[in-house]
Amino acid sequence: MTRYDVLIVGAGHGGAAAAAALRQQGFAGSVAIVGDEPDAPYERPPLSKEYLSREKPFERILIRPERFWVEKGIDLLLGRRVDAVDPDSRSVKLAGGGTIGYGEMVWATGGRPRRLTCSGHDLFGVHAVRTRADVDRLMSELAATTRVCVVGGGYIGLEAAAVLTKSGKRVTVLEAQGRVLARVAGEALSAFYEAEHRARGVDVRLNAAVQCIEEADGRVIGVRLADGEVLPCEMVIVGIGIVPCVEPLLAAGAEGGDGIAVDAFCRTSLPEVYAIGDCALHANGFAGGAAIRLESVQNANDQASVAARAIVGNLRPYDAVPWFWSNQYDLKLQTVGLSTGHDEAVVRGNPTARSFSVIYCKAGRVVALDCVNATRDYVQGRALVLTRAAPTARRLADASSPLKEMAPA
Ligand code: FAD
Repeated sequence: MTRYDVLIVGAGHGGAAAAAALRQQGFAGSVAIVGDEPDAPYERPPLSKEYLSREKPFERILIRPERFWVEKGIDLLLGRRVDAVDPDSRSVKLAGGGTIGYGEMVWATGGRPRRLTCSGHDLFGVHAVRTRADVDRLMSELAATTRVCVVGGGYIGLEAAAVLTKSGKRVTVLEAQGRVLARVAGEALSAFYEAEHRARGVDVRLNAAVQCIEEADGRVIGVRLADGEVLPCEMVIVGIGIVPCVEPLLAAGAEGGDGIAVDAFCRTSLPEVYAIGDCALHANGFAGGAAIRLESVQNANDQASVAARAIVGNLRPYDAVPWFWSNQYDLKLQTVGLSTGHDEAVVRGNPTARSFSVIYCKAGRVVALDCVNATRDYVQGRALVLTRAAPTARRLADASSPLKEMAPA
């Protein structure tokens, strides 16, 4: 049985960053990343942006050039899935046979797309947007597609809707809630993005319940809503969130549920096992200490660094400010902090000029900003979130007053 000093499970953002951080921290032991996708680690955000629009080929979304892994002595064991963990013998079992031992393990498996459960959910023409393979499949069908139904008005669904609308497809967005981006943003931002999509011809349906996907000869021909309406289409894209890939580790006894529970150093309840990224359930200071999973590149990279440091004995707790971005049409959204639970939302700048920010406060303190084509607010607003600054709403709304002057000295 091959044994690695550090075995990283999951060759995505977190896994790649953890391996690189270990070497950066001077770790000289053996390191391998085992991943179930066939490709070397690549960036996932472009899958619904520049890769889908064909502005960037696959080579340009690799997280590191292939030679990096060789030069750093990091083994990439690709196309292999871990399906069981034995914490006593410190080893993992691979689907299809094979065992790998570990001294320490970093679990960085992200999540798989949540599927629809209605009839027709697995038809030809129904797609998720999580992996390169998902998007390659989707792209191979685009030439024969004129109408697309996107189920889910979150970031990924809206980004895909923007790319496909720009390329001439007729797109309908079906959102179950009363506004788009309901899970991640305040009402002003939702209304703005809804209007932007409508202005470009996207048919945005709110409070839309999908009953089933209609088929003919095994192919999608439409989406039937609960009210009986059928929206004809040749393709359905489902963007309704992810389910964390945690079953093998939970079965091995790790604490958790909707994610693997970790402490401030990304340590799980199993000895010498860390969990990072989309699958890690951690107490986040920017969520008032609540246990959450954060699905962002920032979180995957920063937790990777925390876990790598812990492995080399350089303990530093995870306390990074959350940040995120989304590109739709010519709109660059940059988010800092977490707006969940805010009790006030202040609009700064002019949404009709398509450059503005929404500043979220809780009990008078700034907890997050959503900045649309407003990079200066994003950069300067970070300090407000970090220091939990408490300027008045009036001052925050005054775009002539720089945010950097509002953070406590
Ligand atoms: P992943 O990058 O998903 O990597 C996990 C890897 O582990 C995958 O390759 C998975 O197949 C593999 N795996 C799972 N189970 C096993 C197993 N048992 N054995 C072996 N391998 C396994 N974030 C942003 O901050 N900004 C954005 O604009 C943005 N846009 C996005 C757009 C899209 C289309 C998607 C899908 C995500 C986007 N995200 C964005 C989210 C971001 O990509 C994720 O938060 C990030 O990839 C999380 O990294 P991770 O390492 O936790 O998981």
